[in-house]
Amino acid sequence: MCLSVLASLTPPDVQMHLVDENVERVDLTEEADLVALSCMTASAPRGYAIADRFRERGIPVVMGGMHPSALPEEAAKHADAVVIGEAENQWPGVFADFAAGRPQPMYRAEQRPELTDLPLPRRDLLHTERYLAPNVVQTARGCPHACSFCSVSPVFGRRYRFRPIPEVIEEIRSLGAHSIGFPDDNIVAGRARAAQLFEALIPLNIRWVGQGDLSMAKDEELLKLMARSGCMAMFVGIESLSQESLAASHKRPNLGLDFERAIATIHRHGIDLVGSFIFGLDTDQSSMFRETVAFTERVKLGAAQFSVLTPFPGAPVYEQLKQEERITSFDWSLYTMGHVVYRPRNMTAAELTAGRDYAYGHFYSLPSIARRTLVRRGSRANWLLRAAVNLSYRRRLRGGKIADSLPGDRAAAPAPAFAAPLAPQMVGDGVSESP
Ligand code: SF4
Repeated sequence: MCLSVLASLTPPDVQMHLVDENVERVDLTEEADLVALSCMTASAPRGYAIADRFRERGIPVVMGGMHPSALPEEAAKHADAVVIGEAENQWPGVFADFAAGRPQPMYRAEQRPELTDLPLPRRDLLHTERYLAPNVVQTARGCPHACSFCSVSPVFGRRYRFRPIPEVIEEIRSLGAHSIGFPDDNIVAGRARAAQLFEALIPLNIRWVGQGDLSMAKDEELLKLMARSGCMAMFVGIESLSQESLAASHKRPNLGLDFERAIATIHRHGIDLVGSFIFGLDTDQSSMFRETVAFTERVKLGAAQFSVLTPFPGAPVYEQLKQEERITSFDWSLYTMGHVVYRPRNMTAAELTAGRDYAYGHFYSLPSIARRTLVRRGSRANWLLRAAVNLSYRRRLRGGKIADSLPGDRAAAPAPAFAAPLAPQMVGDGVSESP
């Protein structure tokens, strides 16, 4: 999505070819005057290999995205220029410098862009038919929290920046679509603004999925509005059932929440939930695997994602584990949230992997899917979505693809259950990051 936004900021007479390696391969023999490349951590080795090949042919490369922004010096070894942070304000200048043949090695914006008057992404350059959820519309960036495992606030800042609601509505109308995915890390952030957004969505008569934190359950008026505006399901970062682990990782929105009651409240409004859990936090004990799976079944989560803690560059836990010399692999291709790349504190890496596999295997067993999906909640479309997501996870699990197809860095992007490409992963990287 980010490159399709940059495409719309590029002079209109420039011929562009946009390739998303989640759904198609880059042609390394293609002719070009400039290659612009964005990657997350797990796709960085592939991104660097592509950049090297084009540069060998004398074609200049500019890199940006989550990983190059976190480790610009590393990316600079593979690129003529690195753009650090959000690129909207920087891209016109970067492009002009390349066009004039005098790019600078690094570009770093003084300020993060305000999200007014954002250009519409050039979706015409994407193979939208290859995505499960092609109609993705961002409404905000940033997060005031600083969860240790997450790179959202280091990259996007600790202040919510909201797009004006009329601009969001105009973009949705321009799509002419009935289903929308909101990739915001927390679409229920700023309750008054969230309520205004949901009110404005009601006349559009769409169905939508998004990401948010479970504290939304405290506001039943907001939940009513969400349901009326077409919310089918939310991806929520539960992360851990242990208050100690939540406190140690600074997951403030979840502290003190009664998860069972919160989930039941949200379900009562016909909104399904995909819960995300992280295994291997420093205070986690090996008993958590069974406890977590039992919990997910008890509350009948629509779907769940079980990740192992991954120290993404840019996230506070990366610096912590690096300082403690507990990172065991800097092979970024393993940073999929499916491989153990550090020494856990209270268990071995093998126990952590086995626990994660147990959780996936149990949760996506046919009896569990039947128990959780054959419940009346929301519309028939909700039920179909829940069944499809569960069967998709189960298929990937049985194909041994879960460890290599989980999301990359935790940061703003579509919820994985809803935005996964239809095609198999080609580069061992996921498509999304989460709250
Ligand atoms: S995990 Fe969610 S609440 Fe925590 S910093 Fe990231 S986006 Fe914010």
